[in-house]
Amino acid sequence: MQNRVISRPPVPPTEVAVNAGPEVARFRQEFREWLKQHAPADLRGVAWPVSEHSPHRQRLLEWGNVLAEAGYMCVAWPTEYGGRGLSPTEIAVMNEEFDSANVPRVTRGRAETTVGPAIIAHGSPEQKAYFLPRIISGEHVYSQGFSEPNSGSDLASLRTSGFVEGDELVINGQKVWTSGYYEATMMFVLVRTDPDSSRHSGISYVLVPVKDNGPGTGVEFRPIRQLTGKSGFAETFFEDARVPLFNVIGQLNDGWRVTVTTLGHERGNRATTAHVGYARDFWALVEQLRSRGDLSNPVVREKLAWAWTQIETMRFSGLQLLATLAAGQDASSRAENGSSTKIRWSEYARRFGEIALDLIGPDGLTSGNSNPGRLGHWQESFLSSRSGTIWGGTAEVQRNIIAERVLGMPKENRGQGR
Ligand SMILES: Cc1cc2nc3c(=O)[nH]c(=O)nc-3n(C[C@H](O)[C@H](O)[C@H](O)COP(=O)(O)OP(=O)(O)OC[C@H]3O[C@@H](n4cnc5c(N)ncnc54)[C@H](O)[C@@H]3O)c2cc1C
Repeated sequence: MQNRVISRPPVPPTEVAVNAGPEVARFRQEFREWLKQHAPADLRGVAWPVSEHSPHRQRLLEWGNVLAEAGYMCVAWPTEYGGRGLSPTEIAVMNEEFDSANVPRVTRGRAETTVGPAIIAHGSPEQKAYFLPRIISGEHVYSQGFSEPNSGSDLASLRTSGFVEGDELVINGQKVWTSGYYEATMMFVLVRTDPDSSRHSGISYVLVPVKDNGPGTGVEFRPIRQLTGKSGFAETFFEDARVPLFNVIGQLNDGWRVTVTTLGHERGNRATTAHVGYARDFWALVEQLRSRGDLSNPVVREKLAWAWTQIETMRFSGLQLLATLAAGQDASSRAENGSSTKIRWSEYARRFGEIALDLIGPDGLTSGNSNPGRLGHWQESFLSSRSGTIWGGTAEVQRNIIAERVLGMPKENRGQGR
């Protein structure tokens, strides 16, 4: 009786797509076999995405290349663009198999889930032929240049400017909160290219090469130190940065359409997988508390029960969303959509961060590793979870979206935010 609620083996809940029909079952078997043969033993249990300090960085990149060569990268993209044309259900199956094998699914990050789909939807044949293979190969790693110092939720108020000179666009201005700048070779940037325009017209969506940046190169990153002590993001300054007009996706001044495609993917893509990582963290916490003999404490058990209930809720809402997508339906006006999922996982992560530190107690104040100045796991997840309700569209803005699109309430009197 004592450990009934939390004695479940430390395996995240998987097989969300278990009864999806014979074709999906065949795909699962094929991929499971492939993974058995190729999964690198030294990466078992290693986390992806990689942080700037990860000791596994190089090995993860190599593992990503193995996946790309075998055709397991950008799997949602149509086959004609180098993808595999997998359905949301098949992708869920793939995630489950990575999870069962306990190896990370290395992806091309936002290039795969946001820029790539935007290029596929709005790029010219020549742009698709040039940019998409470079995303798959990992040559082009993208950071996102949307937010500006006075323009975050209200993205359409952006002021970074661009003017055409010959066959180039010349960019001046500043972006902020550029995540992953340290590994980026490219940046997708929103630029106001019609100075007489306002709001959503007159904006262009530009792919800016940023590899050898620094003072005097036209693009300069100035790292911002975060709560965790790391510098995962930067301010980005453009000073007469020159980009070929070829790199403008969609038409000049018509970038808002491309942006809407990008934002839709940004919000939706964690829906069916978010619970897996949280389940891992949950069981890691349970194990730590078990080793200290804390599991019989009713206060501990109550908090863990709350957390597990939330994880199960996330799993079920992910399933619901998956079912909608698998039926080929648009989920944006449904109760389970990208916005509701984002609110749920980001608010859960904040609360779980607090609970974990609370339950660990004074041990949570020491780093638990020998590297001076580095945080322990629970400290880091507590601090980094603070930002989840902000990035990718704040919780308040997501609630507005639900109010308007799901509940049909009157629109707020404002421009279209993020
Ligand atoms: C960790 C992290 C990583 C990020 N990475 C990137 C990145 O790589 N690239 C990038 O371009 N940006 C990035 N961002 C920026 C992020 O997208 C913005 O912070 C976010 O869109 C909010 O904008 P803001 O910070 O300007 O806040 P504001 O828009 O100024 O909002 C301030 C407050 O007002 C509320 N608010 C604003 N408008 C409304 C409204 N209409 N109704 C109700 N409430 C409202 C907000 O919810 C918030 O609480 C990142 C942010 C964080 C924290």
